[in-house]
Amino acid sequence: MRPRDRASEHLRTAAIVVAAGSGARLGADRPKAFVALAGRPMVAWSLDAIAAAGVPRAIVAVPPGHAAAAEEALAGAAGDFPLGFALVEGGATRSASVRNALAATGDVDAVAVHDAARPMASPELFSATLAALEHADAAIAAAQVTDTIKEAGPDGLVVRTHDRARLWAIQTPQAFRADVLRRALDVPDDVLARATDDAWLVERAGGSVRVVESSPANFKVTTPHDLAIAESLLC
Ligand code: C5P
Repeated sequence: MRPRDRASEHLRTAAIVVAAGSGARLGADRPKAFVALAGRPMVAWSLDAIAAAGVPRAIVAVPPGHAAAAEEALAGAAGDFPLGFALVEGGATRSASVRNALAATGDVDAVAVHDAARPMASPELFSATLAALEHADAAIAAAQVTDTIKEAGPDGLVVRTHDRARLWAIQTPQAFRADVLRRALDVPDDVLARATDDAWLVERAGGSVRVVESSPANFKVTTPHDLAIAESLLC
């Protein structure tokens, strides 16, 4: 598909990139999303994929107190988003950061939420999750589980073996009908704090959530080992 077609397809769409975490497990001298990855701030790789997917607006949630540094680091990105590019202050939890960014998207029909910590997400994955909104309130990138998953009690004894054919490891991007996401995020802070992804908030509000098959290559950078693997793949 030509880029111009994609741009018109996603005209009323915004992307939110959450980049406000500290990334303590990476042990870096700056927030994880701004650590250098193959010569660029980690978050810049996600913004490239979003722009290449034809999403015309992007909002990045950045750590409180880091706005000036983030603006400098991402100065080149604004030109890639013809309908708007903005930085907002993140919140105390991941979903609070999403909520802050959602307030800055303007009037859109669909929102793709993405973790800056997943720099390997492809433009096609953004497009596929947004396209799947035709059939659900939310459409989320997910990789089929290949390991056998067992559940154990606090004593270490296995209580259950799950049917892995039905299990998915959830990633981002996660695409949402904008009104559904706004309602799902309109909950007390203690509920937001329990959400490890935004789709769970839609599930608990009774919305429909679909998985969109992705690959384990869209992994989350958490440790220095993950950073080294991402570096070797992007160089
Ligand atoms: O800590 P973790 O890697 O699970 O965070 C996932 C994503 O959420 C990261 O991109 C991180 O920057 C973001 N985050 C955020 N605001 C927070 C906590 C995490 O934007 N308060």
